Amino acid sequence: MAAQEKVIPTIIVHGGAGNMRKHEQVLAEYLKGIKIAVKAGYQALCGGTGSALNAVEAAVSSMEDFHIFNTGRGSNLTVDGEIEMDGFIMEGKEFRTGAVTCVQHITNPVQLARMVMEKTDHICLAGPGANKFAKLMGVPEVSTESLIVERRRKMLEEKRSFNPDTYDTVGAVAIDADGNIACAMSTGGITAQMEGRVGDAPLIGCGGYCDNDYGGVSTTGDGEAIAKVTLARNIIFYMEQGLSAQAAAEKGLHYMENKIQSHPAQGGVIVLDKYGHIGMYMTTQGMSWAYIQKDQLHYGLLKGEEFVEKTDDSM
Ligand code: ASP
Repeated sequence: MAAQEKVIPTIIVHGGAGNMRKHEQVLAEYLKGIKIAVKAGYQALCGGTGSALNAVEAAVSSMEDFHIFNTGRGSNLTVDGEIEMDGFIMEGKEFRTGAVTCVQHITNPVQLARMVMEKTDHICLAGPGANKFAKLMGVPEVSTESLIVERRRKMLEEKRSFNPDTYDTVGAVAIDADGNIACAMSTGGITAQMEGRVGDAPLIGCGGYCDNDYGGVSTTGDGEAIAKVTLARNIIFYMEQGLSAQAAAEKGLHYMENKIQSHPAQGGVIVLDKYGHIGMYMTTQGMSWAYIQKDQLHYGLLKGEEFVEKTDDSM
């Protein structure tokens, strides 16, 4: 019998894909935020009670707290100037899943999604129901004003119609030493979206999916297109068929672009297979991403670019 390949504990994160050159003045902030997040995730992956689930929650929470990303404080605004967020989390052993959609007045949708997974019989709570549940769980309520940053207000002023071209939803995928895989997502949706719009992020198999037997995926991009092709599940399907994480990532995004002609149908994906091998691809100008594996931090933003650093000794 062939020896079983050893799992490499890994976390990979993205801070959204899109027309990044339009955001030239803040690219350094995306890189800063993504590096902080992947380190937070790696600590939660490798610490004493570390697990893939804790890792993706920690990484996504970190990006929700960092002003540059489109979720938590810094979320995109709806056409009415409101903030409505989606959060999602899933583990690949028993397919336990939690999501919230169109939730308001909280800072960490991913944490509420995990509570849905662990404390209810449901997989998704929406709008007022999600907020009622947050209250029940003792999640602090914050004002919409405190979640709005000036840059997002300007983006709404410049673009009164819904026309997706920059996506900075955040996501993470991790595999721990036991081979457990988890993924998580969080987003403020797309600038000028209608009130009540549900994107791909909270829909299982669209924005994210994981299965310990094959791997895990998190996506970013044109949410309507992603949902139409169930992008995350489709990439896992390609891996079931024998494709590598990288080949499956590329095939998934090209399939979406070819099939969906009525949208921009662009985006980016991060993928891990069941050993921790990386897949990453984008059909946009860029995507902020980072991963840590074997004490090396890899990260990048514009297409084709990759930096490598040794992780701090303190980690
Ligand atoms: N996919 C997200 C949405 O459509 C947008 C993004 O990736 O930033 O809500």
